[in-house]
Amino acid sequence: MSVTQQQVLDALSKVASPRGVALTDANVLSAISVSDGKVFFSINVDAAEARAWEDVRARAEAAVRAVPGVSTAMIALTAERKPGSAAVPPAPHSHSHSRSAGVQPVAAHRPPQGGASPMSKQADIPGVAAVIAVASGKGGVGKSTTALNLALGLRDLGLRVGLLDADIYGPSVPRLTGINEKPKLDDNRKMIPIQRFGLAIMSIGFLVEEDTAMIWRGPMVMSAITQMLRDVAWGTLDVLVVDMPPGTGDAQLTLAQNVPLKGAVIISTPQDLSLIDARRGLAMFRKVNVPVLGIVENMSYFQCPQCGTRSNIFGHGGARQEAERLGVPFLGEIPLHMSIRTTSDAGNPVVASEPDGPHAAIYRAIGTRVRDQLQGAIAAA
Ligand code: ADP
Repeated sequence: MSVTQQQVLDALSKVASPRGVALTDANVLSAISVSDGKVFFSINVDAAEARAWEDVRARAEAAVRAVPGVSTAMIALTAERKPGSAAVPPAPHSHSHSRSAGVQPVAAHRPPQGGASPMSKQADIPGVAAVIAVASGKGGVGKSTTALNLALGLRDLGLRVGLLDADIYGPSVPRLTGINEKPKLDDNRKMIPIQRFGLAIMSIGFLVEEDTAMIWRGPMVMSAITQMLRDVAWGTLDVLVVDMPPGTGDAQLTLAQNVPLKGAVIISTPQDLSLIDARRGLAMFRKVNVPVLGIVENMSYFQCPQCGTRSNIFGHGGARQEAERLGVPFLGEIPLHMSIRTTSDAGNPVVASEPDGPHAAIYRAIGTRVRDQLQGAIAAA
């Protein structure tokens, strides 16, 4: 049974809003996307009102889910602070639904005092010992490829690992893993991550068609990612690897601020430009007191698939030197190699498809360095 936008609107018209009118008359709804039983939209309010609307968001979601034929309802409460309005303390968020996704202007973010991490204020994800981000200053440096193979490297160390593709502008995990099924809902209406290669995997790309243009306003990014973190039945995990959207802008900063991260791994290529971007990434995580677990140099050198000869076509060692200079660990270098690309494109990442090969060994070595730094968190859980 196909769901229409009108059916969704009819359901929403029965939800009351704090403005004393029906939700549909409160002038707060974004465009409603309905596709294949999946409904997405946001409720946009001023941050000062956000708390009053949290319950409305939950009721709207329940109303939409009750429409026959709806399989997924993802409704974001987005709260933007109007220029000049007073700062609003974040709502308590024992549960994801109770959290508004207000984006604080960067300048308004006070540096952490007394070394206390702002992350300590973030509710952990039940059952998940450590959430780590894989980030890069720009796109195309191999961030997603590295995130997936690093997750597999950590799996090979005997850890229980999940992968969240938070690159909502261009989710590549469906392609890299060959997954094209939709997550099902459990009894608590949480999405069940797809199990593949021994990993629990979730991506917004599982929910929308690949060619669906996704336009996210800043606050929606956080809200969508928060839902993917918290409304997914991750089960018990030692490490959840989050493939971040590329860049170091406000969206990334907000994410780094709002996700309970135990650390971040920065991917860079040897070229200067991308090293500069990596530095920005470092600065971003430092700003929000997330420990940088280290830098990985991807496409570090070219390895000929025929003869194995190594050529340092982009120059070499820049990331290692940069890491030393900045006082962060250097996690390893990954060659530019045909089989890393072809296996990724075939949906069968190199650590899974060539587990005894040299590339898998490199990702496992990087995974070991990451794990060693997370040992405390994993052991505590
Ligand atoms: P990002 O997430 O940074 O945008 P991707 O992981 O999607 O980058 O990688 C971009 C392209 O580069 C993909 O085609 C991928 O297969 C390829 N790639 C990534 N790392 C390597 C590598 N070490 N060797 C060869 N190709 C790679």
